[in-house]
Amino acid sequence: MSGLYINDSYLKSFEARVEEVTGDKFVILDKTAFYPNSGGQPHDTGLLVRDGEEYPVVYAGLFDSKISHELGRSGLETGDNVAGSIDWDRRYRFMCSHTACHLLSAVIFRETGAMITGNQIGEEKSRVDFSLEEFDRSRLAEYIDQVNGIIKEDRTVKTSVLPRDEAMKIPDLVRLAKEVPDREEIRIVEVEGIDLQACGGTHVKRTGEIKGIIMLKAENKGKFNRRVYFEVLEGD
Ligand SMILES: [Zn+2]
Repeated sequence: MSGLYINDSYLKSFEARVEEVTGDKFVILDKTAFYPNSGGQPHDTGLLVRDGEEYPVVYAGLFDSKISHELGRSGLETGDNVAGSIDWDRRYRFMCSHTACHLLSAVIFRETGAMITGNQIGEEKSRVDFSLEEFDRSRLAEYIDQVNGIIKEDRTVKTSVLPRDEAMKIPDLVRLAKEVPDREEIRIVEVEGIDLQACGGTHVKRTGEIKGIIMLKAENKGKFNRRVYFEVLEGD
């Protein structure tokens, strides 16, 4: 089962059926909009409701390719019909931060040729890691400015699914240090004219939805490893 967020990252609520309950509080549904902690993006939180009774979702994770919801209380049973809703403020901030990670990675790669070795999105701050020996950290502010420029250009963010062999022919995709997942079909996320990546996360539809980003700090994590922290701005 794949999550409903794959095709619609803006889906906030859904109806589903409980397929499996383990350890009282771990629930697998026949479908879900809850994003499981993976690929540098944290899990969603929210609620499952059965007959007016609320079961808070405190964690969602991927186990054996299934999305497991950890609930704050027991009581749900196999076969129950539930209405699910995700904590939208939390998720939307992750969508903005995640999309901004793509932009910053693309700018760093374009400007320095550095391989992007990782990223982690957080509720407050997010980070991008890249590999580069010679690095002029004074230029980071300039890269952040470039990201804010791309945000203002309000570029479209499109997702598509390609067979693996076709996806691997895309040069930009294999230049990234991050491994392309070993699946028959690869989900491609494209920021028009800026970036193309294999990614299973949730993103905004247009870069203009992000209010902007500010740099928090940069760190050297060894001879080649560089890390830059940023946060997305809130409000109008
Ligand atoms: Zn992504």
